[in-house]
This record gives sequence, structure tokens and C-alpha cells, in this order.
Amino acid sequence: MSVRLAHGIGDPPADRPVAAVVALGANLGARAGTLAAAVSALQRLPLTTEVRVSEPIETVAVTLAGADETAPRYLNAVALLQTRLAPSTLLHELHRIEADHGRVRRERWGDRTLDLDLIVYGDVRIDDERLTVPHPRAHEREFVLAPWLQIDPDAEIPGRGRVDALLVALRGDGS
Ligand code: ATP
Ligand code: CA
Ligand code: CA
Repeated sequence: MSVRLAHGIGDPPADRPVAAVVALGANLGARAGTLAAAVSALQRLPLTTEVRVSEPIETVAVTLAGADETAPRYLNAVALLQTRLAPSTLLHELHRIEADHGRVRRERWGDRTLDLDLIVYGDVRIDDERLTVPHPRAHEREFVLAPWLQIDPDAEIPGRGRVDALLVALRGDGS
């Protein structure tokens, strides 16, 4: 597809709306309220329409040491949106929404009030120091794939394949 690859916040909008997927996660504070407020913020983004969101699911925290049953559990959800914002601009807006909800960046994969990851942006592929899309770990995360499938049964990750097949492979038992 012909979308200009973006490398800065001031990048021009795409000519046509692009289907983007955002994963939401929260494991501190009033998690459900934070996710709902984040969805409202997505709906208010400029050049963005048709925001649809999955039901939230509750998942065990994954830290650098692996699954941590003692850490606060996450609520995760996935939102689909149509946007003409350039990918870099969308990422900037996601970081702003995180900051609005008290996100503090400490250790990698640490507890957080809100995490917003850009999972895919149409079929565009970007790999630079600030932004990689498709998100390089989305295909191995049940907490992304399962809610995404709820709202888009035909979802695909460019270069990885169909989300339903990825989820079956991840679960290993077809459940
Ligand atoms: P993970 O990326 O494994 O889910 P994380 O969400 O905890 O980990 P963060 O600390 O939120 O990681 O983000 C680290 C950096 O990742 C950010 O500064 C951001 O610029 C960069 N980044 C690269 N690609 C993406 C993407 N597709 N979505 C969100 N952030 C991204
Ligand atoms: Ca993340
Ligand atoms: Ca993130």
C-alpha cells in the first residue's frame, strides 16, 4: 500500500485511512477506568475514526523474570481504529495518552498504569530506533492475539500470518 513511511512527529497524514491496531494494558490503579479513558482518548484523536475495542481480559503479569503470579494482574484489551495519522504521530499520541494516565517509565516490563502499543499499521513495516511495526512481540502474546481476534476474526499480522492460526500455535493445543 502507498503510505509514506514516517520518521518524525510532523510527518504528513496518510492519503487514506489506514487500519491500525493498538494494544492496551494496565496493572496499577483503577485498571478498567483507565482503559475506558484511554479508549475515549483514542476516539478523540484527530484524523481518526471507527474506534472499536474488545472486552478486557485479565492476565498474569510478565516481567523480565517470566510470568509473575505475585505482581498485580493486568487488564488487557485491543482497539482497532481507522486513522490518517502517520505512524510516528500515532505513537507520539499513544505516549501522550500514557503520560496523561501517570505512566512512568522505569524498568523494562515493569508495573504500569497504562501501556499502549502500536501492533500494526495497515500492512506497513517500519523498523527504526523509535518504532517497530508490526510490533515485534505481538505474535507471541496471547493477551494481544485473543482480544484482537474477538473484534476481527480475519486479523493478520503482516509477515506473521493470521491471528487465529498464531493463537492456536501459541496455545499448542488448539483451545
Ligand atoms: P514491549 O514493547 O515488549 O511490549 P513495553 O511496552 O513495556 O515492552 P515500553 O517501555 O512501553 O515497552 O516502550 C519502550 C519503547 O518502545 C518506546 O519508547 C517506543 O518508542 C518503542 N516502540 C517501538 N516500537 C513500538 C510499538 N510498535 N509500539 C509502542 N512502542 C514502540
Ligand atoms: Ca507493551
Ligand atoms: Ca509500550
